[in-house]
Amino acid sequence: MLSELRTANAELWIVVFSSVLRFTFHASRELLMASLIECEDVWKIYRVGDVEVQALRGLSLTIEQGEFVAIMGSSGSGKSTLMNMLGCLDQPTRGHYRLNGVEVGGLKPDQLAEIRNRQIGFVFQSFNLIPRTSALENAQLPLFYRGISLKEQRAQAAAALGRVGLHGREDHYPTQLSGGQQQRVAIARALVTSPSLLLADEPTGNLDTQSSREIMAILEALNRDEGITIILVTHEVDVAAYAAREIVIKDGQILSDRQTKARPTSSPVEG
Ligand code: ADP
Ligand code: MG
Repeated sequence: MLSELRTANAELWIVVFSSVLRFTFHASRELLMASLIECEDVWKIYRVGDVEVQALRGLSLTIEQGEFVAIMGSSGSGKSTLMNMLGCLDQPTRGHYRLNGVEVGGLKPDQLAEIRNRQIGFVFQSFNLIPRTSALENAQLPLFYRGISLKEQRAQAAAALGRVGLHGREDHYPTQLSGGQQQRVAIARALVTSPSLLLADEPTGNLDTQSSREIMAILEALNRDEGITIILVTHEVDVAAYAAREIVIKDGQILSDRQTKARPTSSPVEG
């Protein structure tokens, strides 16, 4: 009687243990296999007074970790609205946006801020640097809430400036830097938190041809050498040509989506 009970007990534990194992396995596999970005029938509707603007109209899109994507489309087509949503600055009116498997639509403002600070770097057309503040302090800003020492913050900001070729310019103010250099400070600021996703909304829109090329070369290297996922909005065909995938948006919907370069393989063949 007692031994039967023991056997039954042991069997029960085996069943419980194996289902826990199976659940853990499936849950972690789901996380491992989730795309970086999944948009499913996403709508964004702005209401201004009595007028309703449908900026995104049932847009669906998947982007994997490590991609370099250019988003093109005429003015007013919804590019910035899409970027703001992908960057967790805004949430969809309807539909699903999952970032790393997490449903962004259900998050509260402080959770969105946490995701932005941990996972996403932003670069804008107008640089958005703080005036009368050194390059180093500008690059250091996102580390302010990280709970690390000031010394460590400065070291990380200096390293980020080094990665964009601004070593020696740490103490320069924005007014003492060219447009291209200011945009590089903005990229350093975006990189300083080690984001997995870099969003750039017309980063070369205010730059001359030579500075645009330098900025694009930096973004290209970050994607190629460090595997950072980059999504870039641009009007210019030669800027979009740096990316490996080109998505055209029209009236809040995807007009075309094509791979323009082979995806980088994880084990390049030496030749
Ligand atoms: P793009 O970046 O492609 O130029 P946007 O995403 O900025 O386009 O805008 C898409 C549409 O949504 C436009 O018609 C624009 O006027 C409208 N829109 C964008 N932001 C807002 C807002 N905050 N309030 C109301 N309408 C907006
Ligand atoms: Mg825009």
